[in-house]
Amino acid sequence: MPELRKDPVTGRWVIIATDRARRPSDFSREPVPPPSSRFCPFDYGNEQKTPPEIMAYRHDGNANGPGWSVRVVPNKFPVLGIEGDLNRQGDGMFDRMNGIGAHEVIIETPDHDKTFAVMSELEIERVLSAFRERILDLKRDVRLRYILVFKNQGAAAGATLEHPHSQLIALPVVPDFVREEIEGARRHFDAKERCVFCDIIRQELADERRVVQENADIVALAPYAPRLPFETWLLPRRHGARFEEAPRYEYESLARLLKSTLMRIDRALESPPYNLIIHSAPFTDAGTELYHWHVEILPKLARTAGFEWGTGFYINPTSPEEGTRVLRAVKI
Ligand SMILES: [Zn+2]
Ligand SMILES: [Zn+2]
Ligand SMILES: [Zn+2]
Repeated sequence: MPELRKDPVTGRWVIIATDRARRPSDFSREPVPPPSSRFCPFDYGNEQKTPPEIMAYRHDGNANGPGWSVRVVPNKFPVLGIEGDLNRQGDGMFDRMNGIGAHEVIIETPDHDKTFAVMSELEIERVLSAFRERILDLKRDVRLRYILVFKNQGAAAGATLEHPHSQLIALPVVPDFVREEIEGARRHFDAKERCVFCDIIRQELADERRVVQENADIVALAPYAPRLPFETWLLPRRHGARFEEAPRYEYESLARLLKSTLMRIDRALESPPYNLIIHSAPFTDAGTELYHWHVEILPKLARTAGFEWGTGFYINPTSPEEGTRVLRAVKI
């Protein structure tokens, strides 16, 4: 019998359709094309083919030349631009403003074929530090309200270049999904005077059925009401509203757990495409006691169809308990 489950943060319902249960190998996926030998603007020696770098961690060489380990450049085709005023105005029912923001690309490694699952923990930690540095810098711009850091792994997840990279988009508004989480967290806080994410972590660690892996600082778990098969969240045990304010040891622990979680997902599901996002409190939000930063990994195993778009209900054929069993059984 299918089961409806409600996400304790957002209140969003999902349908866990376990009678349509599928083995990991039953998901149809776009085959991952073999690495091509085509020209890649993110490789060593091609630095002049990207816009000039905003920052880089380098062990050698000069700006916009080889010798870097992580490199951040503006997106060549930005969704939003940094020049100008917001100029917010209304036209009767309709609000508009100038597309002020920033759109940056974090090139995670010079190595064309390395994924997070293959990179060393230190390399991943360096990427996380680059995210932090860019957020702290962009936060000084008073026009901006939110920064989303995300990664599209694989063409089916929206990646247009195969070279390992993440993106950062700074926005003059707080995105809906984040606002939903904050509003849900506020409802919980008003009722219980506790952070909803801290409560989830406590309950999940006691229950264990949905805990994929944990270490001293971070817990990787399948949410109770996942939208997608094998959806996995990584949360710091210590309460903190903002990713960029986390202490260094949490980045170390996050890098370790990200690597092993993604290794599990890659091995169990044959390196599926996925999106990875970081959710953190908006700059302006004073309610730092009620929000809790986290990472969401969203494997792209099934397609979002009309029913999902039309209702906001997701149909998930894999229960989080079954997904957790599969991921935990992987030898890494
Ligand atoms: Zn490349
Ligand atoms: Zn918390
Ligand atoms: Zn979230």
